[in-house]
Amino acid sequence: MLVNLTRGWYYLTMKLSVVVPVFNEEAGIEHFHDEMLMPVVKNLEVKSVEVIYVNDGSRDRTLEKLQRMAKKDERVKVVSFVRNFGKEVALAAGIEAASGDAVLTIDADGQQPPEIIPEFVEKWEAGAKVVTGVRKHFQKHGLVAKLGSKLFYFLMKRMGTETVPGSTDFRLIDKVVKEEYCRLTERNRITRGLIDWMGFPQEYVYYVYGNRHAGKANYKFWKLAKLAIDSFISLSIRPLLFLGWMGMIITFLSGVLGVFVIVQQLIMGDPLGLNWTGPTMLAIFITFLVGMVLISQAVVALYISHIYAETQGRPLYILDREGSRGI
Ligand code: UDP
Ligand code: MG
Repeated sequence: MLVNLTRGWYYLTMKLSVVVPVFNEEAGIEHFHDEMLMPVVKNLEVKSVEVIYVNDGSRDRTLEKLQRMAKKDERVKVVSFVRNFGKEVALAAGIEAASGDAVLTIDADGQQPPEIIPEFVEKWEAGAKVVTGVRKHFQKHGLVAKLGSKLFYFLMKRMGTETVPGSTDFRLIDKVVKEEYCRLTERNRITRGLIDWMGFPQEYVYYVYGNRHAGKANYKFWKLAKLAIDSFISLSIRPLLFLGWMGMIITFLSGVLGVFVIVQQLIMGDPLGLNWTGPTMLAIFITFLVGMVLISQAVVALYISHIYAETQGRPLYILDREGSRGI
């Protein structure tokens, strides 16, 4: 109880940063800020809050509205891009600009309900370094989106990165995680993938994914598909290893078959009476060569993946600062 109390007091000295990426949200941004976000933020049990809007090169009057909001309320800050760089980059910029003891990221369209922010903060106060929002089910989402998302998490799991299905960018990260995150300099970035990769223990908050309150979704099918492919490629080399294994299996099987044909038919004079024709033998030989090509491709790709890992320049390890002593 005493511990709880001191913890509570301790967090009353803390600052929370809320990062919101915005792209062409003029229709709903004021409603989001005034009616959805601020009423919740006001009652949080933290010392202070800053709200950082990252204008991702909006082509409507979003920036104007953001600036008006910032003028009225000094807790509001605006980071603005000259053109659209995509939500992932916007998130990165916002997280870097944040000065709080924890950083919460949330969409501006109301699909991630601000009223559950206190749950994130509570879990953080209880010691969690990463709190991830997980959506329970879709509302009014197309079949393609649903299937695509199912397939994505299935493949991610297959590829060895444990991501809880439905986990989203609605997240809170501690300052420690933020600092590590800022050391990651790679260009094709998926914020949630990177945070999962770092491997800090996570806590989860479940919510119902609502409908947009205004404007329209900016993520089109191909954009999402690119995001999924980027996730796979940056987090795993399993697709590549799969190619290599295919090559080895094909080479092995056709090699065995080839040796069998040579010995059986050409050396021993076809005692089994199979009477394999020239084109059949040629086909076996070509299959063997295809296997070799697949293997050598996989080898080349392995080299490329090493070069890729070097250029990504990720830190070798992520320290558990609370667990380490005397350094
Ligand atoms: N967004 C952004 N840059 C973009 C696309 C979207 O900053 O290029 C913002 C958008 O304003 C919103 C959030 O990212 O706050 C989520 O976007 P959206 O609702 O279009 O995507 P979805 O809900 O399908 O994830
Ligand atoms: Mg949305």
